Amino acid sequence: SFQQTRDNVIPRYVRVNTLKTTLDDVIDYLKREGFSYQGTAMRLEDLDHLTGKTFLCDLHLKDLLVFSAKTDFHNHFLYKAGHIILQDKASCLPAFLLNPPVGSHVIDACAAPGNKTSHLAAIMKNKGKLFAFDLDAKRLSTMSTLLLRAGVTCHQLANQDFLKVDPQSSEYKEVEYILLDPSCSGSGMVCLRDEVSEPQEDGRLQALAAFQLRCLNHALQFPQVQRVVYSTCSIHPQENEEVVSACLQQNPGFRLVHLLPNWHERGHDPFTQCLRASTAKTRTHGFFVAMLERCPPQTDGEN
Ligand code: SAM
Repeated sequence: SFQQTRDNVIPRYVRVNTLKTTLDDVIDYLKREGFSYQGTAMRLEDLDHLTGKTFLCDLHLKDLLVFSAKTDFHNHFLYKAGHIILQDKASCLPAFLLNPPVGSHVIDACAAPGNKTSHLAAIMKNKGKLFAFDLDAKRLSTMSTLLLRAGVTCHQLANQDFLKVDPQSSEYKEVEYILLDPSCSGSGMVCLRDEVSEPQEDGRLQALAAFQLRCLNHALQFPQVQRVVYSTCSIHPQENEEVVSACLQQNPGFRLVHLLPNWHERGHDPFTQCLRASTAKTRTHGFFVAMLERCPPQTDGEN
């Protein structure tokens, strides 16, 4: 049976929405409410000692606060006002790593319910263009509410199949950054994993992996794209390293970027440029992130 140990408890992560407030203002607000701020975590283990109302700044991601697992902010003013976003640390990695410059043109290919979209908008300081697509109208309407609450204004939402978005359209001619977080098995989500202990049906994983690869290949078709971040909340290599591997074989003009050298859980060999995340090793849900970049143009040797 499943034993609760420190190793499988995920702390509560809170992303400060810098479109509405600042890290310092949120820390001060919480201190006035009786929370006790302990500074920035130095080691992963620091996250295991959070109890009651103590909290830390995360050791890898700026604007991310960490609380004990039992803390609930769903009814908190800062959440309702869009000043804080309740988002697992692993799911903050894709936008943080893509890091689109202020004013750039960006696509969030499978965007709803939009936590990564609002994170991208915060990094872009609401300047530039953020095209967000999703196939599911209901999830998109939830997303509209969330983006309004978060103060996002640089976005353009479309209820559209990303695979049918035309990369040659003049609308996307300046898109240099793409975040691709497609549907996956969800096998990294700890709550799901505990309930659904059944092994994933192989046919389902194969279908998901085929879809993910088509999406990733499609993302690389945008004429000006420089960087694409691919992420899943799956722990299966079929949806992660194997998708990346097939994509690189089919697109020799792109290569992997080595992500966060001080992040210890890496993609399975030989894809160690990519990141993995797990409760045991990173105190997050199970997650995978890869970043592909366009190779610099070939020069004709040295003279
Ligand atoms: N990035 C989102 C976030 O951080 O809130 C979560 C995205 S979720 C993992 C995957 C999304 O992809 C779902 O909302 C699903 O409706 C959408 N989706 C599935 N197939 C799609 C397609 N062909 N084109 C666009 N969106 C699609």
